[in-house]
Amino acid sequence: MNYDVLIIGGGPAGITAAIYAKRAGRNVAVVEKYVPGGQLNMIGEIENYTGFSKIEGANLAYNMYQHAKNVGVTFIMDEAVELDLAGGKKIVKGKKGEYSALAIVLAQGCHTRELGIEGEQQFKGRGVSYCATCDGNFFKNKPVAVVGSGDSAVSEAIYLSSLCSHVYLLTKPVLKLHNYAESEIEQNKNITLLKGALSSRILGDEKVEKLVYIQNEEEKAVDVEGVFVAIGKRPDASLYHGKVETTTLGYVVADEKMQTSAEGVFVCGDLREGNIKQIATAVGDGAVAGNEASKYVLRKIYAK
Ligand SMILES: Cc1cc2nc3c(=O)[nH]c(=O)nc-3n(C[C@H](O)[C@H](O)[C@H](O)COP(=O)(O)OP(=O)(O)OC[C@H]3O[C@@H](n4cnc5c(N)ncnc54)[C@H](O)[C@@H]3O)c2cc1C
Repeated sequence: MNYDVLIIGGGPAGITAAIYAKRAGRNVAVVEKYVPGGQLNMIGEIENYTGFSKIEGANLAYNMYQHAKNVGVTFIMDEAVELDLAGGKKIVKGKKGEYSALAIVLAQGCHTRELGIEGEQQFKGRGVSYCATCDGNFFKNKPVAVVGSGDSAVSEAIYLSSLCSHVYLLTKPVLKLHNYAESEIEQNKNITLLKGALSSRILGDEKVEKLVYIQNEEEKAVDVEGVFVAIGKRPDASLYHGKVETTTLGYVVADEKMQTSAEGVFVCGDLREGNIKQIATAVGDGAVAGNEASKYVLRKIYAK
């Protein structure tokens, strides 16, 4: 099938790009491999998306999907496995079929890395979180732990230290941080830095109660109600590797119009280098990408 704009990934970014391009008059399809709404389907309650004091992730996902359907966006339930972005007509090969378009929007998001320890799956959404900005408020005046050794773990710990009664930061033995970050942690009385602490188990009954870790070959534990895992998010770059400019971690580089290094190829949401990986930023990126992809298609049509 031939479209004006093909969007790969039906999360908040991709759905928004589709709505903007469709409402601008283009023929638009979203290729989605699992369920429209993307990561929203993994979220219990969302409290930081403007206009909704509280909304369940799955409900927001369904509303976004219905919105796109109502304006006439086509959803293709397929996994994009190969891209040909070189020519004027871009080709997307899926497991079930082949699709083409004048413009492509990359919106595949990225996935949060997990610890892989006992209790992590059991307590997801019941104390185990992967996003302090999203869930910190649920742990107001409660003790929490942050696991991770990079800049993002440190900024999560600092963010949580102003909300929670206490924050334990469990890191590798050696931290490779900007000097100011390490001294900010060390001077913050609300944060206990546990260097060389390897998390081993998350314990509790209904909710998280304890994080067990190994330090200096000794098993220890902290009493916490929340465990924030901050060991990074990663995009899966296999689809676009070598076809658009990326960072070393695989995030796609774009200008303020969401234009990538490949003509007619746009990016939005968590996959884009540089945004704060939130629903609001995904939606904002999607609006720009959908609008710019639509304008690009018009320029191509009038140039003929
Ligand atoms: C547990 C959790 C809690 C969160 N809580 C909050 C919160 O409270 N507030 C907040 O603002 N943000 C929160 N976030 C972050 C937010 O969900 C993301 O920033 C947002 O969903 C990113 O949107 P996106 O469209 O860029 O990517 P995604 O939501 O990841 O969507 C990408 C879509 O692309 C599809 N896809 C991937 N590869 C392919 C392919 N090859 N072919 C076809 N389809 C493909 C995926 O199946 C997915 O549906 C949370 C995230 C998690 C995991």
